[in-house]
Amino acid sequence: MQLTDSIGRNINYLRLSITDRCNMRCFYCMPEDGINKKEHSSILSYEELLLIAEIAVELGIEKIRITGGEPLVRSGIVSFLEKLAKIDGLRHLALTTNGLELSRLADGLHKAGVQRLNVSIDSLNAQTFSVITRGGDLKKVLEGLDAAEKAGFQPPKINCVIMRGVNDSEILDFAEMTLSHGNSIRFIEYMPAIKEADWQRYSISGSEIMERIAMRYTLETMDKGAFAGPSRDFKIVGAEGSIGVITAVSGHFCSDCNRIRVTSGGEAKGCLFSDEKTDLLPYLRPSNSERLAEVLQKIVSTKPERHSISDVGYNHRNFTMSQVGG
Ligand code: SAM
Ligand code: SF4
Ligand code: SF4
Repeated sequence: MQLTDSIGRNINYLRLSITDRCNMRCFYCMPEDGINKKEHSSILSYEELLLIAEIAVELGIEKIRITGGEPLVRSGIVSFLEKLAKIDGLRHLALTTNGLELSRLADGLHKAGVQRLNVSIDSLNAQTFSVITRGGDLKKVLEGLDAAEKAGFQPPKINCVIMRGVNDSEILDFAEMTLSHGNSIRFIEYMPAIKEADWQRYSISGSEIMERIAMRYTLETMDKGAFAGPSRDFKIVGAEGSIGVITAVSGHFCSDCNRIRVTSGGEAKGCLFSDEKTDLLPYLRPSNSERLAEVLQKIVSTKPERHSISDVGYNHRNFTMSQVGG
């Protein structure tokens, strides 16, 4: 089966957030004192998350990415992933993590059937890393990367939010990891999710990032993989890893969007920046698979054509990425 939205986009990718909690406090993602955590009872149980995933796959979803908050802080995650990986028809299972708990869990994640890891690292300098994450330990994250490879994963993809005056001086250092370590890097434009005062000062466009790399290295464009989302992908000639840019704010890549999201509290969203969401709880407690399938189909058929955050005068409601799943 294939899920197609109203403008013909094939929607084959579900981002499933399993918790709104996190063991870091990245300043661009959540306020210093954290967020109002949801009551335990309003977080979807693993059984509920599995049911959503099974129905989504029946409808045409082929790739699921587990995210959060920080997914590795939720206990029982490995056995949940084992069950998820066994869903008939699911072709790709990936997970995005800040890497702090990776040393402990990499082996279990690999055995459970996770095929790809994305690790978010915004600086290779311990001090800058600690400032961005409000206390995160870079050494632990880098140990997690090693543990992932020892467990049998390909070198994890690195997600890096580039912010002017904060970490933009490290663009080339990250790009060089595609040569020295074989990691693929995805540079993400800073998004004004929590709408900090004067947020524009951090903005640096995907094209500027690529120009800076192209001044040092010869780049070749890459074909998009089967489940590629809205990133533009390049390679330094001779490198093992690729370099992608997610021009979430400056670029209008929404025409290639292939994703929907479900938050840990059970809200389904067709677009990260849309205020539109549908509460799945009425169809989960008690569970009603038929209605759930209808609602997920509706999320796809009403998926917005594009975001409007860069339009003059547009005012989106602020949100924390950790609650929506990034
Ligand atoms: N905790 C995990 C992590 O950090 O990888 C998974 C959840 S996090 C919300 C998912 C992704 O969203 C991360 O790569 C993070 O850098 C990104 N993100 C969060 N807030 C962002 C923002 N304001 N602009 C751009 N990317 C953001
Ligand atoms: Fe936590 Fe990830 Fe948000 Fe950082 S980006 S605060 S690690 S959820
Ligand atoms: Fe897809 Fe919305 Fe992101 Fe555009 S802004 S790529 S439509 S989720």
